[in-house]
Amino acid sequence: MRIGIVGCAGRMGQMLVREVLQTPGLELAGGTERHGGESIGRDIGEVVGFGKIGIPISEDPKALFAMVDGVIDFTAPPATLEHARLAAEKRAVLVVGTTGMKPEQTAKVAEAARKAPIIMAPNMSVGVTLAMAITEQVARVLDESYDIEIVEMHHRHKVDAPSGTALGLGRAAAKGRGVELDEVALRTRDGHTGARPRGDIGFAVLRGGDVVGDHTVMFAADGERFEITHKASSRQVFAKGAVRAMLWAKGKPPGLYSMKDVLGL
Ligand code: NAD
Repeated sequence: MRIGIVGCAGRMGQMLVREVLQTPGLELAGGTERHGGESIGRDIGEVVGFGKIGIPISEDPKALFAMVDGVIDFTAPPATLEHARLAAEKRAVLVVGTTGMKPEQTAKVAEAARKAPIIMAPNMSVGVTLAMAITEQVARVLDESYDIEIVEMHHRHKVDAPSGTALGLGRAAAKGRGVELDEVALRTRDGHTGARPRGDIGFAVLRGGDVVGDHTVMFAADGERFEITHKASSRQVFAKGAVRAMLWAKGKPPGLYSMKDVLGL
């Protein structure tokens, strides 16, 4: 498969380029960066510390989509919308790791997925995908006498909160309980909040240092607390998951898929 990496000079983009270069069956066809970005025109391999590979970073996603079978996108919501549109036009596989999408933006990606296979997950790691599946199962068993709280910590550069993964875990818990997350999510607490409403799913966010991504889902009742925790210590797990998703998507019909589909859960 010929693969393009959009946002290839970003933290995840660089990781993805290295992963694709080292994966048998995948060939790196090109990469893009934001219009006017300082890495435009530089050799992709050199930018990611792999050594020269003779492919310069471009700022033309249309040209990239014209020469690939699939694209991996860990950029930002407006860019991902443009890439989803191009994937639909070219019928190319799109693996989306971008988080912080608004519901109307996710709806546009889903629309594009009518014409191309799009795999989207707020966290591409295999461990987190399993944590989500387990969270849904536990929430199905434990009733509202168990208060659900989700705590996450990320590095100081992260711009969205709660993390897409924390919200994904919240959605999994809500699904297990048969409710909509938007109706029960308690995303911030400050000042005199009053007692905790029964059935709410609470979120707490920590930011600092170089933490790659820690998530805990707590089910707290009178007399016991059940916790599901995942800690990522390297971003490579996300890149490995994205590449696994790309290999899985080869030959799949158009549709919006998740990492659960990729893992057959
Ligand atoms: P980053 O800021 O280091 O990288 C983003 C890159 O995208 C930058 O280099 C930026 O210049 C580039 N970009 C922005 N607009 C572009 C455009 N129109 N065309 C081409 N490139 C463009 O951020 P990051 O830490 O690599 O994270 C990127 C996204 O991936 C965030 O939304 C983050 O939350 C998400 N993320 C998801 C997972 C997952 O497993 N799903 C894991 C880690 C990060």
